[in-house]
Amino acid sequence: MDAAESYEGAGPMRILLVEDEKAFADDLARGLGQDGFAVDVARTGTEGLWSATQEEYDAILLDIMLPGCSGYEVVRRLRAADVWSPVLMLTAKDGEHDIADALDLGADDYLVKPFSYVVLHARLRALLRRGTPERPVQLTAGDLTIDPAARRCWRGVIEVVLTTREFAVLHHLAGHLGDICSKTQVLGHVWDEHFEGDLNIVEVYIGYLRRKIDVPFGRTSIETIRGAGYRLRSDGGVPAVER
Ligand code: CA
Repeated sequence: MDAAESYEGAGPMRILLVEDEKAFADDLARGLGQDGFAVDVARTGTEGLWSATQEEYDAILLDIMLPGCSGYEVVRRLRAADVWSPVLMLTAKDGEHDIADALDLGADDYLVKPFSYVVLHARLRALLRRGTPERPVQLTAGDLTIDPAARRCWRGVIEVVLTTREFAVLHHLAGHLGDICSKTQVLGHVWDEHFEGDLNIVEVYIGYLRRKIDVPFGRTSIETIRGAGYRLRSDGGVPAVER
C-alpha cells in the first residue's frame, strides 16, 4: 500500500521538496507524483521556508546545501515558527555535514545521497506513519524554564543563551528531572551514535552549563553524583537558606 493511499478520503499526501539540483528534483518529484503524492518543489532555502509556512505539508524533503538559506537554517526557523511537518533531510555526503546538528535542530530523519528511490519511499512512508510531531511543552525545574521547541532557556525572567550542544545536554537532564543520568546516557542522546571521543566531553559541557545557568544566579541545579552521573534538581537548585 502506498503512503499516498493510506489515508482514505483525505486526499493525496502533500510533500514539499526543497532541492536546488534541478534534474534530481524533477526526477524525485516525478517519482513521488506517480506514487500519488502531491509534490511542490522549492529551489532555494528561502523559497522552501516560505512555502512551508504558507501550506500545511504532510512531510518536507529538505536538502542541506541550498542557495539562500541552508537546510539547517530552514528546519530551525520552521520549528521556531511552530511549523511541525516531519522533515527528512537529504545530505550530500556522509561525514560532510553534522547530521546530529540537523536532528538537534528539529529534523526527523535523514538520507545520504545518492540514495535509491525505493529507500526514500520507504523512509518517507515511515515518517508519514509517525505523523506530525506534537509541539513539545516547556520543561521547568524551579525557576529554570526550558522550551525545547524554541530551543530557549530562562532563569526566572532572564533568558540564558545556550549553544546547540549545551541546550541538548540540559534538555536531556530536564527530561529526566530528579533522576541520575550517566555520562554514557547523555553522550548517547546528545552526540552522534558514531561519536568516538571521550566520555569526558559530557563533563566539559556540564561545566559550560553550570557557568551559564547556575553560577551567575548562585544556584547549584546540576548535581554530580560520584561514579554515577548527573542530576538536575527538580527545585532548580534553590540555595539551602531559601528552601
Ligand atoms: Ca544542494
